[in-house]
Amino acid sequence: MSVSDTSTRAGKQYLGNKNTKEVHNLHNEKTSCQIDKILANKHAVRFIPDTLSEAHRNGYDNCAHCIGNSKR
Ligand SMILES: [Zn+2]
Repeated sequence: MSVSDTSTRAGKQYLGNKNTKEVHNLHNEKTSCQIDKILANKHAVRFIPDTLSEAHRNGYDNCAHCIGNSKR
């Protein structure tokens, strides 16, 4: 179980922003998620395994746009 930097959205469902500590669901991506900007800024991380619970375990909060139930 871990988090590692990534430079692409390919092959994963969840993508984290290590700057904001938010996790996005790429299968429900919205324009307001600004995934391209996260990748361009090199703030993107992937979770191993690629699950929402793994993201939560690492302190990431849900994106309000593509997942909802944000705790912030
Ligand atoms: Zn999102």
